[in-house]
Amino acid sequence: MNPTIALECIDCGRVFVPADERLVCPDHDGVGGILDVQYDQSGAREAVAAGVGEGIDDLWKYAPLLPTDGHAVDLGAGGTPLLDAPTLSRELGVTVRLKDERGNPTGSIKDRASAVLTSRALAGDESVLTCASTGNAAASLAGYAARTGLDCCIFVPADVPEGKAVQPLVYGADVYAVDGDYDDAFSLCRRVAANREWYDCSAAVNPYAVEGLRTVGHELAEQSRASVPDWIVYPMGNGCGLAATWKGFREFAELGIVEECPRLLGVQAEGATAIHDRFTGERARAGGETQADSIDVGHPHNAQKACRALEDSGGATVVVSDREILDAERTLGRTEGIYAEPASAATLAGLESAVDAGTVAPGDSATLVVTGTGLKDTASARDLVDGVDHVPDTPAAVPDPE
Ligand SMILES: *Cc1c(COP(=O)(O)O)cnc(C)c1O
Repeated sequence: MNPTIALECIDCGRVFVPADERLVCPDHDGVGGILDVQYDQSGAREAVAAGVGEGIDDLWKYAPLLPTDGHAVDLGAGGTPLLDAPTLSRELGVTVRLKDERGNPTGSIKDRASAVLTSRALAGDESVLTCASTGNAAASLAGYAARTGLDCCIFVPADVPEGKAVQPLVYGADVYAVDGDYDDAFSLCRRVAANREWYDCSAAVNPYAVEGLRTVGHELAEQSRASVPDWIVYPMGNGCGLAATWKGFREFAELGIVEECPRLLGVQAEGATAIHDRFTGERARAGGETQADSIDVGHPHNAQKACRALEDSGGATVVVSDREILDAERTLGRTEGIYAEPASAATLAGLESAVDAGTVAPGDSATLVVTGTGLKDTASARDLVDGVDHVPDTPAAVPDPE
């Protein structure tokens, strides 16, 4: 069973049928015109509601809500744990839970998007997949392309962390590092895709990326229906993940699976504050660059979807410095045994900052979406930790733990 869908332009409301196979609305001259997938979910309610509480093996549990025409590329994305964080909760005075996305097949939440994008590509008989990425989406799409046997060609910014460039190469993709930043990689990818009729899977424009990502909202709703958190905290680059989380959660509220919705706290780094600026109407502290590469997006294409989600949820945004992000990375590791990449640790930095500012009240509950593993980018953590101690080869020379 598959839902009936239509694609609506979030700028002008024009509606397209999927058979048009267009990714953006043509009425906006290449700026904006992002489409949103709309569903008639009436047929899916019972199928989904019947399985609630039965455990979540992977995101295909929600297949009746996904626009994949019967295809389901399976590498094991989704079905990630929602963990308590007792030590962090005690230290912060806020009840913290962690939606741990590190265990996805390629190490980040992007696999939720790729599972749906590649299924969609099979349904549409596409042959070459492409995307521009700050790193994780590239690795993820490449892994999923390998799984489906489709060709994959990706564009990354010149300063992508090495682990993130090597990973898609191992999956057999062609990887091009563009002389410039993410925006340059994105623009080149768009032009090449249009030219060669490649399927552009960039989350910034392909609406089906958000549809896959929204399963994290479904899971959060299902896993926390006994006690919905006051806040869900999400790091924002293009803003797709935050918008998608809201879409999924709200959908489950509409289906009656969960009784209330959380507020969203969207976190950005000082080097890339466009969504925060747009949402608050202010300009954040002057930036430069950020080491949190996954949220280092100067011109987010889904700012509007993200701002709508923030507004609908009664949410807030916060901007944090790289120092705060890297401290939070170490705190997550030390307190809960979670080694997350900087963009993911930004959620904890954002929560701390929102607690300090009084936006999040003592005693509130907050779920941090830990979007990706730290293992792809150990270089950024090296300055955080003391070096290895060298000891002589005698037991007596080894001190007790401090
Ligand atoms: C992509 C990504 C983000 C940001 O998601 P957007 O949809 O671009 O806002 C955050 N964390 C990680 C680990 C990511 O890979």
